Amino acid sequence: MTDIPELFGSLVFNDEVMKERLDLNIYNSLHDTIEEGRPLDITVANSVAAAMKNWAIEKGATHFTHWFQPMTGITAEKHDSFISPTKNGGVIMEFSGKELIKGESDASSFPSGGLRATFEARGYTAWDPTSYAFIKGTSLYIPTVFCSWGGEALDKKTPLLRSMERLCTESLRILKLFGNTSVKRVIATVGAEQEYFLIDREMYDKRKDLIFTGRTLFGAKPPKGQSVEHHYYGAIKPRIAAFMNELDKELWKLGVLAKTKHNEAAPAQHELAPIFTIVNTATDHNQLIMETMKTVADRHGLVCLLHEKPFEGMNGSGKHINWSLSTDKGENLFAPGDSPESNAQFLLFLCAVISAVDEYQDVLRASVASAGNDNRLGSSEAPPAIVSIFLGDELTDILDALEKKETYGGKEKSEVEIGVDILPHFTKDVSDRNRTSPFAFTGNKWEFRMPGSSLSIAGPSTVINTIVAEELSIIASELEKAEDFNYSLGHIIRRAIRRHRRIIFNGDGYSDEWKTEAKKRGLTDNASAVDALPAFVNDKNIALFTKHRIYSEKEVHSRLDILLGTYTDTVLIEAQTMLEMVRKDIYPSVTKYLKELCETVKLAENYTAMLKSEKDMISMYSCGADSIYEGACELETKINTLKSISDAYGRAEFTANSILPTMKKLRIVADSLEAHCPKNLWPYPDYGDILFNF
Ligand code: ADP
Ligand code: MG
Repeated sequence: MTDIPELFGSLVFNDEVMKERLDLNIYNSLHDTIEEGRPLDITVANSVAAAMKNWAIEKGATHFTHWFQPMTGITAEKHDSFISPTKNGGVIMEFSGKELIKGESDASSFPSGGLRATFEARGYTAWDPTSYAFIKGTSLYIPTVFCSWGGEALDKKTPLLRSMERLCTESLRILKLFGNTSVKRVIATVGAEQEYFLIDREMYDKRKDLIFTGRTLFGAKPPKGQSVEHHYYGAIKPRIAAFMNELDKELWKLGVLAKTKHNEAAPAQHELAPIFTIVNTATDHNQLIMETMKTVADRHGLVCLLHEKPFEGMNGSGKHINWSLSTDKGENLFAPGDSPESNAQFLLFLCAVISAVDEYQDVLRASVASAGNDNRLGSSEAPPAIVSIFLGDELTDILDALEKKETYGGKEKSEVEIGVDILPHFTKDVSDRNRTSPFAFTGNKWEFRMPGSSLSIAGPSTVINTIVAEELSIIASELEKAEDFNYSLGHIIRRAIRRHRRIIFNGDGYSDEWKTEAKKRGLTDNASAVDALPAFVNDKNIALFTKHRIYSEKEVHSRLDILLGTYTDTVLIEAQTMLEMVRKDIYPSVTKYLKELCETVKLAENYTAMLKSEKDMISMYSCGADSIYEGACELETKINTLKSISDAYGRAEFTANSILPTMKKLRIVADSLEAHCPKNLWPYPDYGDILFNF
């Protein structure tokens, strides 16, 4: 049995290691940088770098890399060794403060959405000292942000860090109004639950669609679906358990607080949830979780699928962002307190979130939009594409009572009074277990359930931080000017409930009635990524982002371009993979089976037998062969048409409205041919083989 406390964080250059290895002055000065965002002095950086290098070498590292999160889906790294030549032909191991704080990087191969002309292709990475360095393999990883020389953000972490600052500042203004002046920082805390599939590598290797796109593009429904499987929370099979155990250990070494693991609803689907932490660390950790899942799976002869919908007809995978606010004293601002005063504060923060989510529902929806997530949102297992808030009956009743007080001005006595009554502690409502709500209050935190499983949590977290900061700043400005604090407080809370009540929905988000009802309420319903993404650049949202200096106008536009481009590229790769699968494998298999059937009929004619079933199959199969042949031709024509469209939005729109429907049509025919084909003739392992073979 390994000693887990000793194992935990053993590969992280964390506070404990810093304290142990750095001079007290250096340590304090680094701490100031981390706590107060002060610039890092080069002499301090040199000392930190030297300590880091010695520590890393003791742990077996030979290289270092700046580690960053460009606008691609994954993290980026470029490894340099510590070696430096000596005069006598040998080497010494070196690592300078300069190398620690700033790295130059050829940015031209990373998406920039036109932010960087090629003649100024260089970008730079800069150490984010709020995120600990760590060791993976034989390299020291230094978490960094990634910017152009002009200072524009080319990554996902920079805007996130900016949004954390804003949220902190605005939250402090509110706390101060409540007389709380000892709090120095307010941080957004996040726990991201990660869903994933594990399948056998042998099966995976036989499917081009999984290899090229991460999801199956064809596949007839297996006889046994997930409805009767009872996989959710089921006993974990030994092979999976071995994977999970190793995964936990690897993550613990990296300081990731891996905590909960269980089977999910679909066969072969699982979940891992870490204990929540500050949002930028949670973002890094979620990337590490995804990467580690893949490498550990590989060691077990498995493949980890992080796609939002690897198998049609089965549950897709999401990533729930549990989000809350905490003071540096550890007080959770979304936990109702034990005094009337702290409850008034709780209600104010609650109303800020309700207002933010209603006011900015379009950009919140846009923050989770991707080609992969389009396969999941709005299906009967994931939240709908309409943003709404679940509060639970108890809290909704309380808000109702509060609001009525003003509406009916004394005629009807309210049940609760702001700043007088103590609120009950809310437990996670049982009805909330259905998970149909995109944004749920779960007792002392919020759970945003729209993000897809492969998405970095940086984007949606940045948006949540920013929209809440915006509402808090409006409230703070109003309250700071108020003559009668308590009166204004009550007024603001009641007004928020009245104005934004439409976003609260405690019912079944999967139902058709909700879609109709949501429309009546005027809520945004952007079913696809292409409909959702342009919200980033509408006037209101540009004003929001620029006001809080999260993105410049140029940066928002560039990001939209990148996201639209990624959308088109993703579907295009799927379309091309489909073409290849149909032409190289499926069509030949279909004609082979046709040939067998024809030969059987021909042979049988010698005996003048009728062979009705074979003849039926022949006509069905030859029809099907024609259909997939024509479908493939149609798809190819459309892929060629796409080449003639140049603007990012036009391309994405054509992809969504013309290419995707053709792919769907093609799949339906191919799947029905698969369902009628002898197993040995179908070129790929089927859903049954892949999902039920453990
Ligand atoms: P469920 O599956 O019921 O939603 P889990 O236990 O799987 O719940 O996940 C809940 C997640 O919420 C965990 O990552 C947990 O650490 C996180 N969480 C709990 N409290 C907070 C908080 N105050 N802020 C952010 N995340 C939190
Ligand atoms: Mg969970």
